[in-house]
Amino acid sequence: MDNNESYVFDNGEFKLEHEVKVGVRSKALNYGLGVFEGFRAYWNEDEQQLYGFRLKDHFKRLKECTKITNLNFPYSVDQMIDFTKQLLVKNNLKQTTYVRPLVLNDSNDITPNLKDPVVRVIMYVQPMKKRVMKDELTAGFSSWERLNDNMLPPHSKTTGAYMNSALAFLEAGNHGYDEALFLTNNGHVSEGTRENIFMLKHGKLVTPPTSDNILEGITRETVMQLVSNEFEIPVEERSISRTELYGADEVFVSGTAMEVTSLVEVDNRVIADGHEGKLVKSLKELFFSVTTGKNSKYKDYCTPVYNK
Ligand code: PMP
Repeated sequence: MDNNESYVFDNGEFKLEHEVKVGVRSKALNYGLGVFEGFRAYWNEDEQQLYGFRLKDHFKRLKECTKITNLNFPYSVDQMIDFTKQLLVKNNLKQTTYVRPLVLNDSNDITPNLKDPVVRVIMYVQPMKKRVMKDELTAGFSSWERLNDNMLPPHSKTTGAYMNSALAFLEAGNHGYDEALFLTNNGHVSEGTRENIFMLKHGKLVTPPTSDNILEGITRETVMQLVSNEFEIPVEERSISRTELYGADEVFVSGTAMEVTSLVEVDNRVIADGHEGKLVKSLKELFFSVTTGKNSKYKDYCTPVYNK
């Protein structure tokens, strides 16, 4: 797909990407005053159908973020779902695709003021089969702490807040790791730069709670549900210390882009036998059947894009 020739949603209109402009004075550009979402639409080859995954939950989270950041969101969740379907159809997408809605503070006076913003809603698409080319990743804890709720709310997907992730990711790359993990300012494991974290230990699946400054991932919630319902493994939300991870039976991350991916080394410590574990393997298969609309029990999560 040629990005310039793809259709983009811009405040109620569909335009070609090269026609969509953001001004140099926009507060979104100058101060990172915007929020965003990211979700996938999964292609089901047998049905020749594209399924948006958990669209309601993604747009509900977007609306919640706009409340935190005082951006008056002008559309309902149902309207956004409808715009999404139109956008995917207009782009004639017949492959798994990532969708990025953005809500920007597009006022252009020069102060970082959130009062009475000019709100701009943009949404674009990016075909994305798989983001991570490897099934087994290495990670290291960053010297950058995870931002906290009284500083820059981690529960909001605020554009400017991703400097925190970007700094940690750069550092991880410089140290030879595939991904960075964050600690909170009191030393609890928080999450990765774009994904939540899980460890399997003593027969339980454990993940950090909201209070450890995570983004409440929609994939995280899906994983918790699938693991407790379908594998009958108890799931616990509690604080984790970094050294607990080193001795875990499995460690993995979850997120829209990363889906479910194993961490086989943390801080240069090999996790278990250093390979993708049994739980992750089965979970990935189940996750794929759920997201592509092949699992009837979870079909409610999938919104068909093409009218048939
Ligand atoms: N944490 C952060 C910081 C993220 O950016 C993301 C990606 N949205 C996640 C976790 C995972 O969230 P989700 O599963 O909803 O994509």
